[in-house]
Amino acid sequence: MSEPIGGKSKGIPLHTKILLGLLVGAILGILANTQLGGEHAVTLFVEKYIANPVGQIFLNLLFMIVIPLVFASISLGVAGLGDLRKVGRVGSKTIGYFLVTTALSATVGLILVRVFEPGAHLPEGMRAELLAAYAGDAASKMQVAATSTFGIQTLINVVTRNPVKSAVDLDLLGIIFFGLMVGAALTMIPKEKAAPMIAWLDALNEIVIKIVEIAMKLAPYGVAGLIFGVTSRFGYALLKPLGSYILVVIAGLLIHVVITISLIIRFAVGMSPLQFFGRIRASIATAFSTSSSSATLPTNLAVAEQNLGVPPHIAGFVLPLGSTMCMNGTSLFEGVTVLFLSQVFGLHLSLGQMIVVMVMVVITAVGAAGVPGGSIPLLIGVLVMFGIPAEGIAIILGVDRILDMSRTTVNIIGDMSATTWIAKTEGVWTVAQVPEIEGLDASTAALDETPVESVG
Ligand code: ASP
Repeated sequence: MSEPIGGKSKGIPLHTKILLGLLVGAILGILANTQLGGEHAVTLFVEKYIANPVGQIFLNLLFMIVIPLVFASISLGVAGLGDLRKVGRVGSKTIGYFLVTTALSATVGLILVRVFEPGAHLPEGMRAELLAAYAGDAASKMQVAATSTFGIQTLINVVTRNPVKSAVDLDLLGIIFFGLMVGAALTMIPKEKAAPMIAWLDALNEIVIKIVEIAMKLAPYGVAGLIFGVTSRFGYALLKPLGSYILVVIAGLLIHVVITISLIIRFAVGMSPLQFFGRIRASIATAFSTSSSSATLPTNLAVAEQNLGVPPHIAGFVLPLGSTMCMNGTSLFEGVTVLFLSQVFGLHLSLGQMIVVMVMVVITAVGAAGVPGGSIPLLIGVLVMFGIPAEGIAIILGVDRILDMSRTTVNIIGDMSATTWIAKTEGVWTVAQVPEIEGLDASTAALDETPVESVG
């Protein structure tokens, strides 16, 4: 059995180191930005030769294993589920959970943006200034939006014609489908023929999880580097004019996590939310610093299996799907942004239109790629649908990275909650199976009203 992700090994526990890395990187970046300036030679030098290389190496290590990991875990997951009817049942339950939680979070966002109307607070003149400043960025995103075919073709392409090309393009849905087919076929051929392949996939799975553990040793430095890159170059001047918009997004995300997800964890999963969040700290820090659900997937799988004790065939099935389809944070962000921009441009959306916005942001969140800014091209499509100028995206691009970090964190919290819920309702896991790990629950157990003797 591999060691827990973020548990106490020698000295300071890994999750504390990762949080320290986040903090140190953020503080140094803010200092560099405010004391020297984002474009100062020293800031640029540190970013180019220290922070960025360390951050990128950490990211590359994670991306390196995403494809083999998705392939091995999905095919093993399907083979482990046994018969195809079971796969169908677990699959529809999983997608149902994704859709319901994504719709719930979008609704929270839409209500908040409607009540607080942040678009009405954008200072005079700021709109034109932002539109001009980020026009170039917006144009390139609009180009991507125009070429990305989202519709029936997206659905057809899930049945990949060339799994190798899907792997090269990091097309997770294609690889997931290929893994599903391999896993299904494994259950249909004679057991003695399937056994060596299952053993091989098992070994591959173990190997990639081992690589995740190695990569996570670099995480404290990687996250520091990535965060330094964001905070040292960030345009803090934008925080004020866009403050109420940012606050609405962040408040919505917090409400979704603190209320909706916590209630699900407490009542539907039967686990203490504090213990749950304590256990998935490494995933949270990875998502926050990488802004990518795909890059966080390896960490998520290791965390689900080792820190939560979720059976590999469930985690290996639900999490890869979740990394590209379950985006609670993204749908909320998209909903708020569509309404915010409609307010900025003085367009009034009726209640009926808001419901269509809700449906569209859920669909596009499911369709968005789990990479930094993956939802922006699809969001542009939604803006156009409601007659909001596509260039309007320029208004929020300057603060998108901060929002991306936050929404990606909520996306992966949704993925992890889905895994525990599916495992629980499939009758293959309960909170009693959460392994006892020194150093992971210490701080949360004391605060928690649920006795921790049920754990272990
Ligand atoms: N960065 C997000 C993710 O990977 C996608 C997005 O909302 O842009 O989950």
